[in-house]
Amino acid sequence: MKTKLFLTVDTEFSIGGAFDDPVRYTPVGEQAVLCQIEGKSHGLGFLLDTFKEFGISATFFVEVFNTYLFGDQPMRDLALRIKAAGNDLQLHLHPCWTYFKNRDWVQRLKVDPPTDHMNGRSLEQLTEWLNDGIGIFERWGLDRPIALRTASLITDRAVYEAMEGCGLTVSSNIAVGIFRPEEPNLQLYSGLHQIGKVLEACVLTYIDRQIGSHIHHRSLTITGASWAETRSLLLRAHASNIESLVILTHPFEFVKYAVPGLTNMYPSRVNQGRLRKLCAFLAENGDRFEVATIGQLASRTASAARGSNVLLKAPWWQVAGRMVENVLNDHVKFL
Ligand SMILES: [Zn+2]
Repeated sequence: MKTKLFLTVDTEFSIGGAFDDPVRYTPVGEQAVLCQIEGKSHGLGFLLDTFKEFGISATFFVEVFNTYLFGDQPMRDLALRIKAAGNDLQLHLHPCWTYFKNRDWVQRLKVDPPTDHMNGRSLEQLTEWLNDGIGIFERWGLDRPIALRTASLITDRAVYEAMEGCGLTVSSNIAVGIFRPEEPNLQLYSGLHQIGKVLEACVLTYIDRQIGSHIHHRSLTITGASWAETRSLLLRAHASNIESLVILTHPFEFVKYAVPGLTNMYPSRVNQGRLRKLCAFLAENGDRFEVATIGQLASRTASAARGSNVLLKAPWWQVAGRMVENVLNDHVKFL
C-alpha cells in the first residue's frame, strides 16, 4: 500500500508584536507570506516554484480573518495565485484578527486583551466563526472549503461539532507535539480518524527523545526536523503501514528574520534545502508514496477511516544531528 503524503502550508499574516506594543510595531501583511528579499519571494514564491518543479500539489490553509485589518485584497490575491498554480485551498482561522473589528483596539489591549484559541468556546461562537470564514472564501470567488485547520492547532470536541453543522467534513486540527488536546480520543499521532462525522488528518507526531519514562513528542515540520530525520520517519511510516502522513509548514519557515516585526530577512538555505530534498524524494519514490491534497479527502466518508494511531520514533542519532543543525541554522545568518 502506498503511503499518502499531505504537504500542508499555513498561509497567514503576522500580528508582528502589535498586541504587545502597538506604538512600536504594526501587523505584517503580504511580506509575512511572500518573504521578499531583494525582489525575490523566498516564502510563497519559493514554495510555488518548488512544487511546480517537482509536479506536486500542496494544500494551503489560508487564514481569512486578517481581512478585519487588511481588507480582502492582499490575502485574496495570494489565494488566487496559489490556486492558479494548481494547489488546494482550505480554511485556516486565527480569531485574534477579529480584535480589529473594534476601532478602539489599542485602548482595549490592557482591559480586554485579544485571544486566539478555538478550544473552550461555545458552539454558537465557533459556528459564527466557521460560517464567517466560509463566507469570506465564497466572497473571494473560491470554492467552498471542505476542511479546517484551527489556530495554532488548538482544538477540542466542540470544534468538530461546529464543523459538522457548517458542512466542513475534513480537518487537520491536531498536532500533539504542538498542542495536546484534553480529550484522550483527540490525542492522535498519525493516520486518518473519525471524529463524529468529520475526518481528521492529524499532523504526524513522533517521539524524538525518551529518557526513562519521560517521552518528548514532536510534530513534523520542515523547520523542526532535519532531512535525515524526515526521511527516516517517511520510511518508518511506510514500513508500519500508516495510511497517511501530514507535514506542516509555513512560508516564513524558508527565511530567517528578526522578531517580532519580521524585519531583516535572509533566505534559510537549510530549510529550503530540506523541502527540495523532500520533494525530490517523493518524486523518486512514487512506488511507495503518493502526494495528495486535503481537498481530495472530500470523497472519503469519515467512517471509512482506519483509525490506527501508530506512534513512530525518530532514530536518536538523527535527532542529535538535527539539534546541532538547528542550532547552527538559528545562529549562522548565511546557512
Ligand atoms: Zn496559523
